[in-house]
Amino acid sequence: MTHWYDRTIDEEEYYKDLERRQQEHLDRVKRLYSPFSPPFQPCLHDQCPSCLGTGVRADGSMCIHNLSCPCSKCTPWY
Ligand SMILES: [Zn+2]
Ligand SMILES: [Zn+2]
Repeated sequence: MTHWYDRTIDEEEYYKDLERRQQEHLDRVKRLYSPFSPPFQPCLHDQCPSCLGTGVRADGSMCIHNLSCPCSKCTPWY
């Protein structure tokens, strides 16, 4: 009895290869589109000359940094 599929392909090899390619695919998709694992970005506020990212100025007052930052710390990710 012959099967419709090609038995020259080893089943184990086939699934191993498939799994590997699926994993690579998912990794690529996750990196590009996942809002759950945003790529690391250093906080621009760490460069803030007034507070160095601490939110507290040298004179003890609160710093509202004069810049917006797209990093994961400042941008809420849902
Ligand atoms: Zn930031
Ligand atoms: Zn600041």
